[in-house]
Amino acid sequence: MVVQMAEILIVEDEPSINELIKKNLCLAGHHCTQVFDGDEAIALSGCEKFDLIILDIMLPGADGYEVLEQIRGTPVIFLTAKSELSDKLRGLRRGADDYITKPFQMLELAARVEALLRRTKKTEKYFELDHVRVDFESRMIYADGSPVDCTPKEYELFETLVKNRNIALSREKLLDLVWGFDFEGGTRTVDVHIQRLRAKLRLEKQIATVYKLGYRLEAPL
Ligand code: CA
Repeated sequence: MVVQMAEILIVEDEPSINELIKKNLCLAGHHCTQVFDGDEAIALSGCEKFDLIILDIMLPGADGYEVLEQIRGTPVIFLTAKSELSDKLRGLRRGADDYITKPFQMLELAARVEALLRRTKKTEKYFELDHVRVDFESRMIYADGSPVDCTPKEYELFETLVKNRNIALSREKLLDLVWGFDFEGGTRTVDVHIQRLRAKLRLEKQIATVYKLGYRLEAPL
């Protein structure tokens, strides 16, 4: 399901991966531009406007982090090998970015693209699921019309589930997105907050447990 047609810049030096991404995102209805090194990416993003950039980290010329510094304001999905998943990803600007580890499934990438477009689309002001309504501007959650008393972290966790709805999110991913890369606590923190959210919002079924992985908010498309 395509939320909107987007202009996407693909920055990946491996031609076969670049081509595969392009093919799949074009099939999903997006318009793609391909570049194969970091310097080209910086030059192009300076003169053209993109809705989203898919950015490999290890690139000839400027690397992914250097590119990121030059393209402020455009949402980015990093492509990274698991071994590169380090402190460096602290470079993520909360909310406007995401990452996906190689090797990845095309379906996963397409889902992340849709989620990030949805997240960065300015027009989404609220979201409704059954008796629950989230207002993104006031950062309030209502159940049956009454405000729900949530801590800031509970709110952020629910907003993250909503904006990535129908995508399975691992506990580690949720920790990264909600608590940040430098959070010292363990994944148990996520479980505790999920349990509280389920109880407070009465969304026991909709906030589904994904066996051995994490959680997914199940919402009709
Ligand atoms: Ca590369």
